[in-house]
Amino acid sequence: MVAWDDATVHFLSHALQYGTGVFEGIRAYDTPEGTAVFRLNEHMMRLGASAAAYSIPLKWTAAELSEATLELLRTTGLDSAYIRPQVFYGLGTLGLDPTENEVHTMIGAFSFGTYLGEEGVNNGVTAMVSSWRRISHTSFVPTAKGSGGYLNSLLAKQEASRGGFGDAIMLNDEGLVAEGSGMNLFLVSRGVVHTPGVSAGILEGITRNTVIELLREDGIDVVESNIPRGSLYVAEEVFMTGTAAEVTPVCQIDGRTVGSGEPGPVTRQAQDLYHAAVNGKLDSHRDWLSFT
Ligand code: PMP
Repeated sequence: MVAWDDATVHFLSHALQYGTGVFEGIRAYDTPEGTAVFRLNEHMMRLGASAAAYSIPLKWTAAELSEATLELLRTTGLDSAYIRPQVFYGLGTLGLDPTENEVHTMIGAFSFGTYLGEEGVNNGVTAMVSSWRRISHTSFVPTAKGSGGYLNSLLAKQEASRGGFGDAIMLNDEGLVAEGSGMNLFLVSRGVVHTPGVSAGILEGITRNTVIELLREDGIDVVESNIPRGSLYVAEEVFMTGTAAEVTPVCQIDGRTVGSGEPGPVTRQAQDLYHAAVNGKLDSHRDWLSFT
């Protein structure tokens, strides 16, 4: 356990110089039955897969990291939290191959409200199609949550902020819709829910997988498909998913109103189901919660 002010790293850490780390973003919810981390094991499994993708040796199992997270929450006494595990290369060479460098594993927890604002969650956010493309799967590993890759997300997010938009939608090299700067994207067209497949170069979001499963269980058709840019403008509904953003409606894209301009029924259904799941109100998915 390290106090907030003492949680520092050396400035010549390899990860600070080159982004050679992998990380996770996880949430713990203050449920009626106590603090519970949502899909903790899945997040730690993805952390392991991200580390493996970049050959970063991780000496802890997903189970050990999950237990450490629960202990951290018990120690901090946080009822709800955003949790940030990070595995990264520290001191050693500043050459590009960090194989001989020390590897650090840290988990941070802190209070964190809505990512795109209460107003965004309730009424929808605006978005623009970024002029920056999502880095291609031929150039890095989009399914791994690697620190350096987020410079790509930063370009898109800052471009959106400068233009007064809530977030960015990134296309891939083929011009097909990939994802938001830190969220996955869904759209509703003629009653069917579409989301880009992993081959579009997305991070396979845990919220995305959760929403797909919950909507399907509720009888909604969800398909992974190639989504051309134009489909965004004629969709009945668009929403984004992520641990930080949860389920956030998109009400306007590039200045064009999405559907009626209000969050639509499928978006509301996804929000309600997600909210129920993270708060332990879905009996069939109690196993998604790890109580402290
Ligand atoms: N795409 C990107 C680029 C992200 O950074 C995130 C956030 N981790 C997501 C999608 C959503 O993933 P998750 O639902 O697992 O948080």
